[in-house]
Amino acid sequence: MRKRTVALIIVASILIVAVGGVYWFGRSLFHEPSAQGVDSVIGEVGGTRVVGIFAHPDDEQTVNGLFTRAKTHDDAYTYMVTATRGEAGTQVPVVARQKDLGTVRMAESLKNSFNMGVDGHEVWDYPDGGVPQSEEEELVERVADVLRQQKPDVVVAFWPESGATGHKDHMEMGRITELAILEVAEDDAAYKGPEHIVYTISPTKALTMFGGEAGAFVAENQPAPTHSMPAEVGKKHEGWAIHASQENYMQETYILPTWLIYALWDNEFYYVRDLAEDPLR
Ligand SMILES: [Zn+2]
Repeated sequence: MRKRTVALIIVASILIVAVGGVYWFGRSLFHEPSAQGVDSVIGEVGGTRVVGIFAHPDDEQTVNGLFTRAKTHDDAYTYMVTATRGEAGTQVPVVARQKDLGTVRMAESLKNSFNMGVDGHEVWDYPDGGVPQSEEEELVERVADVLRQQKPDVVVAFWPESGATGHKDHMEMGRITELAILEVAEDDAAYKGPEHIVYTISPTKALTMFGGEAGAFVAENQPAPTHSMPAEVGKKHEGWAIHASQENYMQETYILPTWLIYALWDNEFYYVRDLAEDPLR
């Protein structure tokens, strides 16, 4: 009996060490040594009006922490634009007729941003997967008009060379956003555009290890993040439930269960660009 107890204790200890080691290793994949940890990136740069420019419904899932805390910590005004309705997406699980998917996903995205406390959100109808083929001048003008109306001091955007996932629509929206900021700076008006651009950055080690070809491309083409902040994991889980047509997206993409991914990946990473120090042109 005593021998059995000793054996059990040894086995349990080995298991605890093994699980702890795997957990520690898993978390290290979502750690960025270059990033300064802060409570809120918007608070850190003193933002009061924040506009995020994205490509698809559910892209806002990468910035839940930033937008939620911009409201709860900093009482900032927040606004979002999503350029497409995501009508070409794969449903995981199937919750609607495919021809209705754009409408369904537009609604999912609007509900999700509301749940994050975002003050306003417009979803446009550029073709999902076809943003780079869309009329550049018109798109720049539309984004510029949002900036003129909303007058953000911080714009949240995709890094044009990597787009967080390597998706061409993301990269194009990042590029268009920069062009729109340059255009607004030329305006003969009091508002000259944002003071900061905050680019969403993906965890490099996890991408390199599990992201396949696209992950390697992103890791190579994005800058090292300057800041990290808590991801508001609860909002991420709520967000995937709201995005019912994409609820199993993380699991389908990265094989691991969603709860485990966010147990390890509980920070968001950003590259903050101060446009006074580092102008676009
Ligand atoms: Zn997307």
